[in-house]
Amino acid sequence: MANQDDNLLKKIVAHAKEYGFVFPSSEIYDGLGAAYDYGQNGAELKNNIKSYWWKSMVQMNENIVGIDAAIFMHPTTWKASGHVDAFNDPLIDNKDSKKRYRADVLVEEYIAKVEAKINKEVSKAAKRFGDKFDKDQFIATNDRVVRYTEEINTINTRMKSAIETGNLNQLKELIEELGIADPVSGSKNWTDVRQFNLMFSTELGSLAEGANKIYLRPETAQGIFVNFLNVQKTGRMKLPFGIAQIGKAFRNEIIARQFIFRMREFEQMEMQFFVKPGEEMQWYEHWKEHRMKWHRTLGLGDENYRYHDHLNLAHYANAACDIEFNFPMGFKELEGIHSRTDFDLKAHEEYSGKKLQFFDHQENKSYVPYVVETSIGLDRLFLAVLTAAYKEETLEDGSERTVLKIPAALAPSKVAVLPLLQKDGLPEKGREILDKIKYDFACQYDEKDTIGKRYRRQDAVGTPYCITIDHQTLEDNTVTLRDRDTAKQERINVLDLKNRIEELVSLTGLLRQIG
Ligand code: ATP
Repeated sequence: MANQDDNLLKKIVAHAKEYGFVFPSSEIYDGLGAAYDYGQNGAELKNNIKSYWWKSMVQMNENIVGIDAAIFMHPTTWKASGHVDAFNDPLIDNKDSKKRYRADVLVEEYIAKVEAKINKEVSKAAKRFGDKFDKDQFIATNDRVVRYTEEINTINTRMKSAIETGNLNQLKELIEELGIADPVSGSKNWTDVRQFNLMFSTELGSLAEGANKIYLRPETAQGIFVNFLNVQKTGRMKLPFGIAQIGKAFRNEIIARQFIFRMREFEQMEMQFFVKPGEEMQWYEHWKEHRMKWHRTLGLGDENYRYHDHLNLAHYANAACDIEFNFPMGFKELEGIHSRTDFDLKAHEEYSGKKLQFFDHQENKSYVPYVVETSIGLDRLFLAVLTAAYKEETLEDGSERTVLKIPAALAPSKVAVLPLLQKDGLPEKGREILDKIKYDFACQYDEKDTIGKRYRRQDAVGTPYCITIDHQTLEDNTVTLRDRDTAKQERINVLDLKNRIEELVSLTGLLRQIG
């Protein structure tokens, strides 16, 4: 079931700020729209997510290698990729409220309202007919529902045709005919619809030198395509093989709400898998399944993921789907898996005049490989982790806590070392233990406040284990190891600590499950 808690996102945003995960960018100047900074715990969590992805892609696959391309690229790259001409959103302004919207999103929101009416009719009828209710039959035959469905289909067809033919007047007419009002002010006083390119541009070189307009990359994929031959030749790669990359991407999103879900500066983890033409569907299915397994291994709940197959394919794709996650705003795209054919390499061949082909020794000929891409937003996965991890609980002793049940291997800190008291040599013993394990694990040390308060602090930042040093430690060299999720404690010898923690928190454990 989709998340129902309207307040969940607000709670996560507040918690992320209070506990050093995510801050609004340049907050002392009141922030900057859709830009965020990762704090001390956020940076650790982000790095751990990156390691999980990088290791499973690059380290565990003999035929996948990783690169780190520049954000700035030759401007022709974006001409060839189609971004200069086609990476647009249709935008519209309300003349009274001065608010800006995506015209297609306004129409989609209108459609969602009609869909809600259908759902209401369906649930009313389901109640009325009880066990005998046949939902499909009701949707196909009930007058009102049939009318609503027809309305949706007509609107969809008109919107699609307006966008495909670039006839933006039609889109404005549609908005006016449907009587769509500005959600904020209720005004229907709209400007014309304009195309808005999502790429940020800047100038390379000084004006005196004759500066060139260049773009901040809107996706990391093109850095991989332009390096296809470099990597293939220097790595002596044979098809099928993949090139992976983690890096920043920039999009001047028109509406950028929903926290780190939609930002103007974000990070992508992309892998382009080059295959022999004709084998792309088999690899597409492989990656579709494999990526879902990777997500589920994190343990955020299988029911929180689903596939969404694309029916309207982009001009370069012959198959595409999203893996959606149950975010606080409902199921939304987390990762895209796209079969991109030979579109990009061919376009770069054409614009650069360089051959971007693979010589197949078995067939004794050269050809442009096909590409299957997996593309995930690092920040969206970060939000998915927080969404599943955030819990408000009452413990057995009746006390309340807010806990982040982050998968142990991703948690910002793995262990906290907590001397029970600030005296009797307990802090010294604590520091001695910390000095032994700090090389292997990200640790915290805390001796202020009562032990209960310190457990709560560690729960709130998702530290999976707390080591408590008490008087018995001084006698028999044992400590307690407290589990964040169950709040249960085990007594364990200091000499066994490293192996035990390793067993509980290692990334290797997760990677082994993927195989
Ligand atoms: P959406 O439809 O949500 O705008 P998209 O289909 O444009 O996404 P892609 O171009 O397929 O996204 O990009 C691949 C991945 O990059 C997405 O699955 C998403 O996780 C991430 N991503 C895209 N845009 C943003 C953004 N503005 N902020 C954060 N992550 C993003």
